[in-house]
Amino acid sequence: MAENTEEKRSLNFIERIIEDDLASGKHDHIVTRFPPEPNGYLHIGHAKSICLNFGTAEKYGGRCHLRFDDTNPEKEEMEYIESIQKDVRWLGFDWSSHLYFASDYFQQLYEIALLLIRKGKAYVDSLTPEQIREYRGTLTEPGRPSPDRDRPVEENLELFERMKQGEFPDGTYVLRAKIDMASPNLNMRDPALYRIKHASHPRTGDAWCIYPMYDYTHPLSDAFEGITHSLCTLEFEDHRPLYDWATAESEYPHQPRQIEFARLNLTYTVMSKRILLTLVRDGYVESWDDPRMPTISGIRRRGYPPEAIRAFSERIGVAKSNSTVDFALLEHCVREELNKRANRVMAVLDPLKVIITNYPEDQVEHVEAVNNPEDPDGGTRMIPFSRELYIEREDFMEDPPKKFFRLSPGREIRLKHAYYITCNEAIKDESGKITALLCTYDPDSRGGWTEDGRKVKGTSHWVSAPHAWETDVIIYDKLFTQEIPGEHTGSIFDDLNDQSKQVLKGCMLEPSLQEAEPGRYLQFLRKGYFFSDPKLSGPGCPVFIRTATLKDPWSKKMKQQKS
Ligand code: ATP
Ligand code: MG
Repeated sequence: MAENTEEKRSLNFIERIIEDDLASGKHDHIVTRFPPEPNGYLHIGHAKSICLNFGTAEKYGGRCHLRFDDTNPEKEEMEYIESIQKDVRWLGFDWSSHLYFASDYFQQLYEIALLLIRKGKAYVDSLTPEQIREYRGTLTEPGRPSPDRDRPVEENLELFERMKQGEFPDGTYVLRAKIDMASPNLNMRDPALYRIKHASHPRTGDAWCIYPMYDYTHPLSDAFEGITHSLCTLEFEDHRPLYDWATAESEYPHQPRQIEFARLNLTYTVMSKRILLTLVRDGYVESWDDPRMPTISGIRRRGYPPEAIRAFSERIGVAKSNSTVDFALLEHCVREELNKRANRVMAVLDPLKVIITNYPEDQVEHVEAVNNPEDPDGGTRMIPFSRELYIEREDFMEDPPKKFFRLSPGREIRLKHAYYITCNEAIKDESGKITALLCTYDPDSRGGWTEDGRKVKGTSHWVSAPHAWETDVIIYDKLFTQEIPGEHTGSIFDDLNDQSKQVLKGCMLEPSLQEAEPGRYLQFLRKGYFFSDPKLSGPGCPVFIRTATLKDPWSKKMKQQKS
């Protein structure tokens, strides 16, 4: 019993409702749905909803439907429908045969509209959209009934039929629910159920010129599909009475239940589809799947693994009130996952030549490198070492301050997996720029240690110059400079980070990297997590982009909080 209570406490409020429903026998199986409108690419907020809907169904051995809420013919495109399916699959979820479209229900929805009219629960209204708004009243004033509110049933049926036949232009009539013009909830003041729209629909073509409204379509689609728990974001809380009204008045045998949860907001990010569309259309980013975008396709190209997104979604949980999640937590989850699976490789992003003067000129040897110290099955590989190498320019200082432990004249450091080297001289060009370092190595330090146990403070990564693969590397950073974009400037576009993409030319990578297949997760030692972008990479010419730095501000913050 005690154990049971313990377990209950760790359930979120949705799981508690579900377990109660299962225990009371209200349901013997669970059906949820993810209902995107195909009018844009999915973003990380949708990922949370996907993880919640599919994850909850999975947990209780139920199923989750993928349903396209395609009631708005003009804004929807096949491109979006395809990208959404790809994104859900990529996150690791499967709707199996349960793929639905709200447009599949147009006939059924129409028949229920007829039923509502016959029951005196709906009427055809000829007020203009402006008049409807005006008649609706305000939060402090009740609405006024439309002169058409008491139109006889027969007349309503006839007009609705003529609406359907295409006799009237857009905006001349609407079908409205007859509920309560004095309701304190504005959504209940005779909301529109159908509007006239002479527009071709991507799936139903010109079969219809009246289209059902979201607030009418959604609850009934849930009912038709036997959805038990319809999880949606908090802004729909005020729509719940209408949801319940529609399912009850439809007299459909199955009655679904709507439950609201807080939407995900993330710092340094915007998640409105409208704004994301503007970013793409106006060229602020290159595409919907630009690796700086918070879209699922963007973070996929950025090199965020799906497991990290699922872990993130689990970590943030579900809440009943809105809040904003720290972007650092998302990156933390990405680093946690990549730390486990990314092979460590060496890439010199800003190369400085090192010549080992006591190393034989034509000699090449291969040193062994562990691929991933976090993965015992990760194996090793051999890396070429020779007289001429590259190290990172920032790993040398001619006149170093106290805490600089890397290379400087007279100082010895370790080259990762290889030897100890000591710098003897820096060669400069006329302008004084350092062009190469003359160093000597200790032949007895192979593998990075010596018998005399001599310690060095710094370890640098390196690549062999004649073997290095020279290429460009793309460094991405946050798309916005402000935690809440637009908060102070008034426009999110004023807070765009103009340093969000940098192309580093002439990087020197260890030769094995040229063979990296597209979609590889890697850690460039000391430089960050990198990914071979599947869109830009080709066979034998992977294009690496930076997924994240190695520094984890989230862990630091957590440690500070504890101490
Ligand atoms: P937007 O308002 O950004 O244009 P939307 O939220 O209306 O988009 P839909 O396609 O209708 O986009 O969303 C599909 C599902 O994803 C809905 O159930 C919605 O509640 C959920 N969802 C959307 N944004 C978020 C978010 N930020 N956090 C959690 N769930 C979300
Ligand atoms: Mg929506």
